[in-house]
Amino acid sequence: MKTSIATVSLSGDLREKLAAIAAASFDGVEIFENDFLAFDGTPAEVGAMIRDHGLEITLFQPFRDFEGLPEPQRSRAFDRAERKFDLMQELGTDLMLVCSNVSPAALGGIDRAAADFHELGERAAKRGLRVGYEALAWGRHINDHRDAWEIVRRANHPNIGLILDSFHTLARGIDVETIRAIPGDRIFIVQLADAPRMEMDLLQWSRHYRNMPGQGDLPITDFMRAVAATGYNGPLSLEIFNDQFRGGSPKTIAIDGKRSLLNLMDEVRRAEPALAIDVPAMPDRVQVEGVEFVEFAANEEEAAELGMLLSSMGFSPQARHRSKDVVLWRQGGAEGGINIVINTEREGFAHSSYLVHGTNAYALGIRVEDAQATVARARALGAEPFEQKHRPGELAIPAIRGVGGGVIYFIDSRSELARVWEIEFEALPERATKSAGLVAVDHVAQTMNYEEMLTWVLFYTSIFRTEKLPMVDVVDPGGLVRSQVIESEDGALRLTLNGAENRKTLAGHFIAESFGSSIQHLAFRSEDIVATAAVLRKLGFKPLEISPNYYDDLEARFGLESSLLEKLKVFNILYDRDEAGEYFQLYSTNYGEGFFFEIVERRAGYRGYGAANAPFRIAAQKRAIRPLGMPKR
Ligand code: MG
Ligand code: MG
Repeated sequence: MKTSIATVSLSGDLREKLAAIAAASFDGVEIFENDFLAFDGTPAEVGAMIRDHGLEITLFQPFRDFEGLPEPQRSRAFDRAERKFDLMQELGTDLMLVCSNVSPAALGGIDRAAADFHELGERAAKRGLRVGYEALAWGRHINDHRDAWEIVRRANHPNIGLILDSFHTLARGIDVETIRAIPGDRIFIVQLADAPRMEMDLLQWSRHYRNMPGQGDLPITDFMRAVAATGYNGPLSLEIFNDQFRGGSPKTIAIDGKRSLLNLMDEVRRAEPALAIDVPAMPDRVQVEGVEFVEFAANEEEAAELGMLLSSMGFSPQARHRSKDVVLWRQGGAEGGINIVINTEREGFAHSSYLVHGTNAYALGIRVEDAQATVARARALGAEPFEQKHRPGELAIPAIRGVGGGVIYFIDSRSELARVWEIEFEALPERATKSAGLVAVDHVAQTMNYEEMLTWVLFYTSIFRTEKLPMVDVVDPGGLVRSQVIESEDGALRLTLNGAENRKTLAGHFIAESFGSSIQHLAFRSEDIVATAAVLRKLGFKPLEISPNYYDDLEARFGLESSLLEKLKVFNILYDRDEAGEYFQLYSTNYGEGFFFEIVERRAGYRGYGAANAPFRIAAQKRAIRPLGMPKR
């Protein structure tokens, strides 16, 4: 598999882009003419710089408004082409993209266009160059790859071929199965881009909202399966116009791009076992069995405060690490229950995390079928491995780096890892504690800058067998927060990614004050939230107080029975309902700079996360903490 990316997909100057692309180990780049209009050097120098990075130029583009013109525009178009050919030769590339004509002067007519391409093919052949033809979704006469292919076929010239671009085909909803009839050797390059589903002008959609395969909603795998069936084995080239990417870190975007291609081709390989798909072997997407633990880094004083909060939710300290200052808090023993680890070591990764972010949930432990295979897949997809020195008698728990530089550990039941709590921990004397009936981690909410969201969507969905739900906007009085759910079908892993656009929102404040993205709330599941709330009250838990107005509104919206409504109100429980069932939530007050716990009960297959309640929760939280959004000088 040969991978390529258009330099326009990244931010930065040409040098920065090339360094990032090479570091992500792409094979080549598409060069846009603008790249060297803005660059201080000759095309030959640009070409040399690209080759110095170990990259090849897979394509030069764009050449617009060429085919089907009347004279004198036609002759001028050929003159323009000759000048671009000069430039390509200086640059050192042999393939030019011609996109379908959008000019009102274009006359249309398949044979006329074919004749133009035949002549262009003759001229290109004299110089050993090739030309590929791409149907723009908004082309004046040609806007469908089937028509572009017919023109290429009738041009009947070895130096003229077809260029497929997933966006142009999928945005118009053209049947991808029609690609299977095209001979693979007549396809000169395949460009790939995904996009979120939006109802808007095709040109605007394409120029601003494209994203990496797997980040959007288009059926890219189906497209690519059809391409693979043609026998095409040339470069797969990302051509992503996205305003966010052009403002993001070129390094991260390049890594995302490479990950998206590897993941896509791995999917294609699994879907088309009869085809010889050339992609590095990796284990399949990983089925998550559950959240095994969440680990906090803290100092002793803050650990004590956190411990009080956990105690007020029915947790108790049950074991201590044999050699480290690490304590295991637990509740709901039968099937493992919920494990919260508090790490107050004065050295090692947790301590560094504490120094940077303050007390924070820096690590997640995820239960999978095969921990080693999980790390193997993550590494094959470019995730950063995490290893820490371990002493004799301690387990080397397979791990990778996650959001905000945090850590994701993997535990399985096929190895010694299953006995991690026994092996590394010794039980503390039993204390008479009252369980609050919390049985599992329901979901983990990670807060990040909006620009990072697509990176983590791709990260989670490519490594784990999870799906993303449509993004929803949560209104915070300080601005908009975008919320994206990633979940496994059976709910064993539920993540909510919240993207903050500014620091006046509660999410943005959290990122600013805790110096980066991380877990902002943990939701525990109860099987009877009213009973849980009653125990919490006895344990001295302080719930987030919800405005009485909320309950008036609730009554109006759902017509709840007054006895239930009264209980919800008494215990500050929020309520939601979907087609399947009901949802109940209550929150802790904030811990530190905006971290909090949530307790939920899901009844009869409710699948959501109470998004409709978020504004009420945020308003209550903002009332409860010190003023936000005060200008810092
Ligand atoms: Mg294109
Ligand atoms: Mg939540």
